[in-house]
Amino acid sequence: MALLMETRLILRKVKDLRCVAVRWSRVKPKWATTRPKFPATRLALHQFDVTYGSQLSALWPSVRVALLCEKKYGALINNFSHHDVMAELQLQGCKDFITDTAPAADSQSQDPERGGEEVSQSDLQTTSDTSIHSSIKCLVFPRGDISRFKAARPDSDGLLGYYLMDAASVLPCLALDVRAGHSVLDLCAAPGGKALAIMQTYDLGFLCVNDSSASRTMRLRRVLQSYIPKDQLSDTKLHVCSFDGTMFGDVERNSFDRVLVDVPCTTDRLSVTEDDNNIFSKNRAGERKRLPQLQAALLLSGILTARPGGEIVYSTCSLSRQQNQGVVEQAAHLALQEHGIHTQIVDLKPLTQRFSNTFHFAPGLSAGEMVVPHLAANFGPIYMCKLRRLT
Ligand code: SAM
Repeated sequence: MALLMETRLILRKVKDLRCVAVRWSRVKPKWATTRPKFPATRLALHQFDVTYGSQLSALWPSVRVALLCEKKYGALINNFSHHDVMAELQLQGCKDFITDTAPAADSQSQDPERGGEEVSQSDLQTTSDTSIHSSIKCLVFPRGDISRFKAARPDSDGLLGYYLMDAASVLPCLALDVRAGHSVLDLCAAPGGKALAIMQTYDLGFLCVNDSSASRTMRLRRVLQSYIPKDQLSDTKLHVCSFDGTMFGDVERNSFDRVLVDVPCTTDRLSVTEDDNNIFSKNRAGERKRLPQLQAALLLSGILTARPGGEIVYSTCSLSRQQNQGVVEQAAHLALQEHGIHTQIVDLKPLTQRFSNTFHFAPGLSAGEMVVPHLAANFGPIYMCKLRRLT
């Protein structure tokens, strides 16, 4: 009897073990077959080594290290919130990089590739105003300080005191130079960091925020609800929509004083750190190859929506010359050839010189300016180029 009991016990244990084995065998082969041989992050890094290695030459190794390390944030202050978060953050050692612009002591203020003389990108370019008219405030921890911000808390109206974003992402908004009364289009606006920055402008005339993705437009609405008072959200001065931005130029021609074209790109930092939904994964290869074409179509559309005399800022978070200067040249060419519209590049050197103690800028670009990641100031990459529509 005892022997029978023992045999039953052993049989039950074997059965249990078999169940575990079956469960394991059900999971393991699936996991093994779906795991790509080379993760997308590795493919991205390999591609960057080839293209950026030659594009950035001696700069690439230090940019590469920074790109793989934790990025640094800035706290975009929400002027609509009652919380005095500025004082709180200043106590922690943060400074508003926009107003705190002690003269740069290093070589960043001069372009080493141009022998240190005053830089103007080309004779055809015009220089942007060095004064900042915006009421945008963005606090950052000092160079070399990698402290993290705490999550923002809601005030008595439920509005959050600051929005955490790459501080370099604020630069395209500053370059846009939005003034009181301006009508502005943010063509690719979700999730909304730059739109929020633009909304900090005192007495903004009208802002249209658009994104072709319905789910991302929902996210954009949620962000706006967390930062902007209800009465301003329902105001006719703010319009949220979800259209294909490449078609905008056909419908809203010659309309806006300022247009921000912050296009989808290879999101370089994300591409080397996050495998999920990575643009370098095999199933997104076609989409990735078509990016420059889509970017040029979006920028052309942005140029068409601007009024003559209006200004357009094109931006990406990629280091790619093809997605940056290449797209600007192509869109400006198409605007002239297909629509007879002349554009002029506005020199952003005064802006970069002003902020050279906070960010590292790539030297000697043929058009536009680019923040490159650096271990002591790990912001970016952010590329921006400003165009003025002449006709
Ligand atoms: N400006 C945003 C911000 O500061 O939070 C980030 C924009 S993100 C770099 C690019 C956006 O372009 C994505 O949200 C994407 O859904 C949108 N997009 C992609 N194709 C588009 C198109 N054809 N028209 C308009 N938006 C598009």
